[in-house]
Amino acid sequence: PVEDYAKGRDLPGVEGTSRLSPHLRFGEISPFRVWHSLRERFPRHAPADVGIFRSELGWREFCWHLLYENPNLATQNYRREFDHFAWQTPSDAELEAWQQGRTGYPLVDAGMRQLWQTGWMHNRVRMAAASFLVKNMLADWRVGEAWFWDTLVDADAANNPANWQWVAGSGADASPYFRIFNPVTQSKKFDAGGSYLRGYLPELADLDDRSVHEPWKNPAAAPGYPEPLVGLQESRERALETYQRLKDG
Ligand SMILES: Cc1cc2nc3c(=O)[nH]c(=O)nc-3n(C[C@H](O)[C@H](O)[C@H](O)COP(=O)(O)OP(=O)(O)OC[C@H]3O[C@@H](n4cnc5c(N)ncnc54)[C@H](O)[C@@H]3O)c2cc1C
Repeated sequence: PVEDYAKGRDLPGVEGTSRLSPHLRFGEISPFRVWHSLRERFPRHAPADVGIFRSELGWREFCWHLLYENPNLATQNYRREFDHFAWQTPSDAELEAWQQGRTGYPLVDAGMRQLWQTGWMHNRVRMAAASFLVKNMLADWRVGEAWFWDTLVDADAANNPANWQWVAGSGADASPYFRIFNPVTQSKKFDAGGSYLRGYLPELADLDDRSVHEPWKNPAAAPGYPEPLVGLQESRERALETYQRLKDG
């Protein structure tokens, strides 16, 4: 899919990425081989999409350099000021709701069920599911890192903690803390027809393309699907206030 990678990589409902991650993780293919295959296939004037794909291989290298310099990347905040962040410990029931894809937010739940059923999750959904845990639920990123470590077929000693810390805001070159993914906006934008959502959430099969993103608006048509675990607006405000307290010291 590399020739349509720029667009395809963002759509969880299509096979728009290489799915090379477990093979790279276990050394079944080297990043150099992937890089040089692209040079062989596009000896000159590679399309822009190929450049974007290459930059993802570059992110992998970056994560490995970070791990090399920071062997405790999976356990220690890269930005040490986050040691004082007031994470909240989720109850067992809340954590299980996230792990098992029962948060009431379809994009998060479809992703977490994709992870459990297949061992892989689409990158855009990983970002949304991780943001939901660390920002809307205010759980320490290490809780999520550990679950991904146990369940991903591409669980990688560098990519996993580096990306969790990127989402949490505690990492190198991290996403700014105030960037809180809205799972509803994200699924409307990147899975407009709801094909990805319905694929993993059979409870939503009867909902139309609008309400599949917000099933709480039509609960009678989504029997068995949970109510939202937290309100998006209040939890977003709580996360921003907690971050502000950290900044104010
Ligand atoms: C919270 C979170 C946790 C993640 N944990 C892992 C993990 O344990 N192992 C893992 O390999 N990737 C991880 N990623 C990065 C990314 O989601 C996967 O590499 C990608 O989805 C794998 O699918 P693919 O091979 O089809 O990717 P493609 O889009 O085809 O990309 C090609 C390759 O580039 C590398 N790559 C792509 N995106 C990233 C990235 N953001 N950071 C580092 N390398 C990247 C991977 O090696 C990937 O196989 C994580 C992302 C997030 C947000």
